[in-house]
Amino acid sequence: MKTNPLYHMKKTIIAANWKSNKTKNEAKIWLNETALGNFPEHFEIVIFPSFTLLDYISGFVRINDTPFKIGAQDISPFDSGPYTGEISGKLIKEFADYVLIGHSERRAGFGESDEMIRKKVDMALRAGLTPIVCVSNISQLDGLESKEGLVIAYEPLGAISTSGPNAQPENPSLTSEFVQKIKEKISAEVIYGGSVEAGNVGQYISLENISGVLVGGQSLDPINFINIIKNAI
Ligand code: PEP
Repeated sequence: MKTNPLYHMKKTIIAANWKSNKTKNEAKIWLNETALGNFPEHFEIVIFPSFTLLDYISGFVRINDTPFKIGAQDISPFDSGPYTGEISGKLIKEFADYVLIGHSERRAGFGESDEMIRKKVDMALRAGLTPIVCVSNISQLDGLESKEGLVIAYEPLGAISTSGPNAQPENPSLTSEFVQKIKEKISAEVIYGGSVEAGNVGQYISLENISGVLVGGQSLDPINFINIIKNAI
């Protein structure tokens, strides 16, 4: 159990990163199943669907009064304007409150540099979005300023379930040590991501310096996701 006296005042983030998955119909089935769950008020459950689903999911959540927050999986480093294919912060803010920035898949597969990520963080904050910046090492924090509302997702590369056949969740005591280093460098809430599932989520949530978890693969199935939330309580 957490001993931090602020624990009950702060929300625990349980974030679902759907990556490039789910059609509208699949999202509808997921929402109908998870909406039946019982979610304690101190949880901030944030769904990160693809851009194509932001409108539909934000409408569902509003109409059904479902206690989910919505996030985008990326943001343009530019304002609205002549940037074909880009989605600016202003466009995201119509539907979402959060944005994932610098996921390791974007750093590796789309060449996103730390400088690009800093621009995206600025854009997110200017649009009134809460940025969740993914990092796997301390140097990726260079140049990031402590800003009210900034969230860091610590995701060790080898822990991400899709990183390879040897992917494994990080030992929680190592996670706690690393989070401490992050907090010595920047003032931010820190969440953990990497092979989180119903069976291990409690070990991370109970770490005193962690404010939640980012879940990839296990968030795609509604039952698995509900079980993660149940075991995080
Ligand atoms: C991720 O890719 O952000 C992630 C945490 O994935 P998984 O939970 O599948 O390891």
